[in-house]
Amino acid sequence: MPIATVNPATGETLKTFDELTPEGIERCLATADAAFRRHRATGFAERARLLGRAADLLEADQDDIARTMTTEMGKPLTAARAEAAKCVKAMRWYAAHAERLLADEHPPEDDVRDSGAARARVHYRPLGLVLAVMPWNFPLWQVIRFAAPALMAGNVGLLKHASNVPQTALYLEDLFRRAGYPDGCFQTLLVGSRAVEGILRDDRVAAATLTGSEPAGRSVAAVAGDEIKKTVLELGGSDPYVVMPSADVERAATVAVTARAQNNGQSCIAAKRFIVHEDVYDAFAERFTAGMAALTVGDPMDESTDVGPLASESGRDGLAELVDDAVRQGASVLCGGGRPQDLAPGLERGWFYEPTVLAGITPGMRIHQEETFGPVATLYRVSGIEEAVRVANDTYFGLSSNVWTRDDEDVDRFVRDLQAGGVFVNGMTASHPALPFGGVKRSGYGRELSGHGIKEFCNATTVWQA
Ligand code: NAP
Repeated sequence: MPIATVNPATGETLKTFDELTPEGIERCLATADAAFRRHRATGFAERARLLGRAADLLEADQDDIARTMTTEMGKPLTAARAEAAKCVKAMRWYAAHAERLLADEHPPEDDVRDSGAARARVHYRPLGLVLAVMPWNFPLWQVIRFAAPALMAGNVGLLKHASNVPQTALYLEDLFRRAGYPDGCFQTLLVGSRAVEGILRDDRVAAATLTGSEPAGRSVAAVAGDEIKKTVLELGGSDPYVVMPSADVERAATVAVTARAQNNGQSCIAAKRFIVHEDVYDAFAERFTAGMAALTVGDPMDESTDVGPLASESGRDGLAELVDDAVRQGASVLCGGGRPQDLAPGLERGWFYEPTVLAGITPGMRIHQEETFGPVATLYRVSGIEEAVRVANDTYFGLSSNVWTRDDEDVDRFVRDLQAGGVFVNGMTASHPALPFGGVKRSGYGRELSGHGIKEFCNATTVWQA
């Protein structure tokens, strides 16, 4: 995949970039290694000052970087601005809380008395150079949610961003440099995915985090496993959105539209499978379909656009194949189902797809198991909570889940039985700096954000004193 900015709304190649040479990669690794030795010895106050400064700069740049993101991957401009604002919030949160999150832990004296220790504690030390392999869908947020805690913990970051967002990737390196971070604390490596293995096998690299698809995760985890290096994997999702009879159906349907269509439908934590109790199925399906059909598809730079193009032609074609396969096997199309016909002049060659709702999904259809990375929803009718849980768990993924009910017994049952890294009750899944984020099953392992996230790339060091 060439490293280039290609506008997904028009298909036009705007700028191409040369890949870093092996000598260039070596220089970056050496600089990062030297930076780590200094950065690990700084205190939390200094790290918080730097991260706070980066947050202030990003806040000031919000509009410009939002335009860059929209140009490179097609998300609506309003959503791109919101993404930048969310990054600022997470940076400030980690600047304020990292010291508390990584404070020494003192096990109760009674618990450790028979270890012979007069005193024992757990001290969190940084691991070193962390390679971050990141996707294009939230090109700022995915990186910041790794970088903010990693830098506060005393690690240094090496970013291999997706090949279609090079300008956002370079902006991030520049942001940290302008904030005053010493050379090498955060570097962007403009390399393709083939270079990842060599970088990860380098002895100076301690660990890796990857957000992206299952094949990419498998490949990075295999190399890291071979090298016995720590990884965090944030992979795909096919989150269930369960609506029970006691739910506020009107509200559930309204939120469902946002939960599915956010980021042009290209979010790992988007609700993708809508599992609705038969008592409220018709009411929900009618409102949800009307809401999806009413979304405005068009130029993502236009403030009134709800859904822009998909980020790549292959992504759009792959989504269309999933829908076509389901329809061939008997799924019914409640709305959408193809390319929009009424696009404004200039957008005809963009990678758009209509907001689509499909019903009558059966297990033999590809769409039943595969992730729909675009504005396509599947509807399932279920007869009770047993079936709702079974259908919700009938996926290889386990990122998050959404349940709509006013019944506390339902809530307890879903929290006990849903195979996912999150259960969001009467609302849609969203990440927050203070709450852990991550999945189970093929959605990956490890957690980002909160205290759980910052500790992933720390060495929890036992200090035993006689
Ligand atoms: P992708 O192809 O896996 O790309 C993600 C990153 O991995 C890119 O930097 C890519 O580089 C790199 N990459 C691809 N194959 C690789 C390999 N074999 N070895 C090393 N690096 C490799 O993902 P995508 O399809 O663009 O992104 C969408 C996927 O990400 C979806 O499945 C989505 O659900 C998932 N996602 C998950 C989360 C989460 O938090 N769980 C968040 C966002 C997205 P190139 O661009 O150079 O190929």
